[in-house]
Amino acid sequence: MVRQSLRNAKPATTTTTTTTTTTAKTAVTAVKVDKTVSAKVAVNGRVKTEKVETKKTTVSKRKAASTDAAAADHGDPDHVCAVKDEDDDDVDEKVKKPAAKKRKTKGDDNMPLAARTAVTSLKRAMFIGAHVSGAGGVQNSIQNAANIGANSFAVFLKSQRKWQSPPLAADTKKEFHALLKQHGYDAAQHILPHGSYLVNLAQADQAKADQAYDNFLDDLKRCEALGIQLYNFHPGSTGGAPMDAAVSRIAAQLNRSHKATKSVITVIENMCGSGNVVGSRFEELRDIISLVDDKSRVGVCIDTCHAFAAGYDLSSPKAFAETMAHFDDIVGIEYLKAFHLNDSKAPFGSHRDLHANIGTGFLGLRAFHNIMNHAPFENLPMVLETPIDEKGPDGKSVENRQIWADEIKLLESLIGMDADTPEFAAKEAELQARGAAERDKIQDQVDKKAEKDAKKGSKAKPKAKAAPKKRTKKEETDDDDDDEDSD
Ligand SMILES: [Zn+2]
Ligand SMILES: [Zn+2]
Repeated sequence: MVRQSLRNAKPATTTTTTTTTTTAKTAVTAVKVDKTVSAKVAVNGRVKTEKVETKKTTVSKRKAASTDAAAADHGDPDHVCAVKDEDDDDVDEKVKKPAAKKRKTKGDDNMPLAARTAVTSLKRAMFIGAHVSGAGGVQNSIQNAANIGANSFAVFLKSQRKWQSPPLAADTKKEFHALLKQHGYDAAQHILPHGSYLVNLAQADQAKADQAYDNFLDDLKRCEALGIQLYNFHPGSTGGAPMDAAVSRIAAQLNRSHKATKSVITVIENMCGSGNVVGSRFEELRDIISLVDDKSRVGVCIDTCHAFAAGYDLSSPKAFAETMAHFDDIVGIEYLKAFHLNDSKAPFGSHRDLHANIGTGFLGLRAFHNIMNHAPFENLPMVLETPIDEKGPDGKSVENRQIWADEIKLLESLIGMDADTPEFAAKEAELQARGAAERDKIQDQVDKKAEKDAKKGSKAKPKAKAAPKKRTKKEETDDDDDDEDSD
């Protein structure tokens, strides 16, 4: 994949390219680039040739496949539901989430790692991207997205771990719009900001509910100022209350927020079903939507990892067709507004939220082939939240955005591809091999927990019902259970 996508990423004309292979042990390839190149880029879905200035930089390519499994096992939170944003470096207050580590990025932040594919050159109009950083201002997300060849993207509109953030500056707004124009992103269709992890719209406590609402509304207003139409958020947690009470509180908050704004569509993300989290079953999403007054202002984002972990299979063509028919039946396909594309390190129905790189998890490459070739998904933003942390030579975690650049090209290559070919089977097998160690590890954890629960269950039999699980503050606002098993 590395070599192939490097070829894809290579601009149309190059003046100098030198390739050096360093130590055989890690098989790291360095490519020196020092030139102005022409690259085909997509502007509003149309092909345009653009001069791309590349700096004199050394690109550290992704480690060879044989070392990837080891690199993935780095003990870092693995998924972008817990995405790290460099904005958090200045977090000074005590928050519920663990303090963010100083993020390091391989190479230069402004370095183009892949050219954007012209969507019109694809057999289907799939807009694939990733959850990029908006560190230093939300306007920076645009260049960050362009650098990895993303045709859609997600970003946090402000620090996702702070209740208070400075208002959107006039300059930021101006620059955001200028960069949108320059790069040809359609903010209304292909940018999908992600809500704060602190916000729980199902919160029963009035003061806390108001705080959550204020944060939520502030984000929606930012969307409208930036011309963004879709806003993705986690529905929340029941906090131990009955599901229907939580569902109606969420809907009431949405109704209130819709009245206070004009156009933004609030997009509910499906969850993996851990603890008291709302939204792991399609019925819960349906029930929220049914209580929303303005149905044109509400939608759903399917996270493939969450769906699979919650018990909705997508991995074979048959299972995919059944899951989508079920979604249409229960929720309605017209409400589907976006995707989070993540493979799953945890097995089917395990209710574990552990994002894996595309093709390396229990979903496998075939699941993504199903998605990439499904016509009703055209034009939806499809955002990767896959792990990109690798262990640097000093043992510290380093973000390698080349992984996203490669995954975007990999997903695009699946469009119109015949999956019943030896080429597809080889790719599928290669990626599965890469994730084998991680899958085995998590499978083992899941099996052990099931064993323990079964024992507990038989001991606790005299009691009629198990007491509700005691929830930590963190769990109340977050479905993110990977902290406990990332080691
Ligand atoms: Zn997740
Ligand atoms: Zn997600």
